[in-house]
Amino acid sequence: MIRACPRCQRPNRVPARHLADEGRCGACQAALPALDAPVEVDAALFDEIVDGAVVPVLADFWAAWCAPCRAAAPEVAAAARQMAGRAIVVKVDTEREQALAARFGVSGIPHFVVFQGGQSVRGRSGYRSRGELATFTLG
Ligand SMILES: [Zn+2]
Repeated sequence: MIRACPRCQRPNRVPARHLADEGRCGACQAALPALDAPVEVDAALFDEIVDGAVVPVLADFWAAWCAPCRAAAPEVAAAARQMAGRAIVVKVDTEREQALAARFGVSGIPHFVVFQGGQSVRGRSGYRSRGELATFTLG
């Protein structure tokens, strides 16, 4: 995926297998820290990250109209910070990416799915705190 350098703002293409690693900006050589925030994904970016990641990927299936999803959003962001370097967090807007939600049989949201090696290994619906999300993701 494309990540903007925190120093020079230039786009850097980072392969999914390196998203949980610290890297270096190709333009200015500043450190690009391990991904520490949820990534909004479409179907193509979802597949790129889930298939390429070497750490667990937590997917948050959500929608703007869903109050428990909005309540969970800060917890999802905090879990992404807490798990930086150990896991990747992606967010799937189920209104925009209905095919993706259907692929994983998502009915109630928020719905959380953990992927390892491109395979879904566990999933559950409903609000979770940051600590619960980290335990759920890291196993
Ligand atoms: Zn840079």
